[in-house]
Amino acid sequence: MSLDTCPPPATGCRDAPLLKQRGQHEVFCGLTGIIWLHRKMQDAFFLVVGSRTCAHLLQSAAGVMIFAEPRFGTAILEETDLAGLKDAQDELEREVARLLARRPDIRQLFLVGSCPSEVIKLDLARAAERLTLKHTPHVRVLNYSGSGIETTFTQGEDACLASMVPTLPDRTTRQLMLVGALPDVVEDQALDLLAQMGIGPISVLPAKRSDGSLGVGANTVFALTQPFLGDTLTALERRGARHIPAAFPFGAEGTTAWLRAVADEFGVDDATFARVTAAPRARATRAVAQAAETLAGKSVFFFPDSQLEIPLARFLTRECGMTALEVGTPFLHKSILGPDLDLLAEGPVLAEGQDVDRQLDRCRAARPDLTVCGLGLANPLEAEGLATKWAIELVFTPVHFYEQAGDLAGLFSRPLRRRALLHPGARA
Ligand code: SF4
Repeated sequence: MSLDTCPPPATGCRDAPLLKQRGQHEVFCGLTGIIWLHRKMQDAFFLVVGSRTCAHLLQSAAGVMIFAEPRFGTAILEETDLAGLKDAQDELEREVARLLARRPDIRQLFLVGSCPSEVIKLDLARAAERLTLKHTPHVRVLNYSGSGIETTFTQGEDACLASMVPTLPDRTTRQLMLVGALPDVVEDQALDLLAQMGIGPISVLPAKRSDGSLGVGANTVFALTQPFLGDTLTALERRGARHIPAAFPFGAEGTTAWLRAVADEFGVDDATFARVTAAPRARATRAVAQAAETLAGKSVFFFPDSQLEIPLARFLTRECGMTALEVGTPFLHKSILGPDLDLLAEGPVLAEGQDVDRQLDRCRAARPDLTVCGLGLANPLEAEGLATKWAIELVFTPVHFYEQAGDLAGLFSRPLRRRALLHPGARA
């Protein structure tokens, strides 16, 4: 399926009613973003200022990575800090000095706020300023919040990138900036496709290393590679940069639409665009078609998790033949997701936020063939006879652009295949 063979729906979801719910929610806090950000930014360290709960969360989310001397840790607030018996700022300065002495490879240090540090109103912004003065020019210290009060899951990446934008040097020359942390292999593919079209110079936020070469200014145009970067978008616009709105690069169609939006901005002609995209696009379409055999005609229900839900629903409905029953997302930025909403045919319930018990009731009533949800809900729903896909995998697995389109579809078809193998008589 391609842009040419699958026209946009007569009525998309851009103006569809939005079910807004606030209640108990089953989501990660923004600290989890550290797990993929520390791998991407190779000279950065993430120091969470929090409690043992935060340290446990990172340990369990990072899995075996914690044995590889990762570049993140937790400065645990003790009772004496919480009771105000010790000066938390002095304590923090001491811990940071010890850390930087032990790890001279660190060039960027993020002080990451948590629920406890926010509740006791520990001023990490001021701490970051003081520490930058102390450790400049070798280390820059920044601050953002990954707390569960302020952020949901992938919003931690948004908060991190947004904190970097004001510190970037001015750049007056024209450039394309790709914004969003992608696995290296995926980022390389995107850069290669754009270079083949003659588009450049290109920079990437976050950069692998903070060598000072990344800059921003009025001649910067930027394309988001992830949909959850609302604050980063605002911060970049504040620096004069201009956003290129586009559907997100999931599947053959999404990737083509994303590339087309960037190519149009740089005046790439149709023949060049077709020459560069034809072969990988055909490969992606073939790979998706294989997994789509299992998915076609099946229904899908998304619980909110990462803000990837709307582009993924667009991919599953348009390229894999599924029907979306409900698409839940923690936040819906219409200015970012407009092009994806235009392509998503009207029909599914669009839900922002969560009241988990009510959403579970809707899910049980709908009996979807596939439910995309977090680990906290997956096994209980499986026990009720519903096939589930763990949403977190969609954030950790390389899923963007042409070469990963088949793998992306495979992530959704695998639970249905497994179910069919284990329960030959089951409906999914
Ligand atoms: S930041 Fe808040 S939600 Fe996240 S682990 Fe720490 S206490 Fe829990």
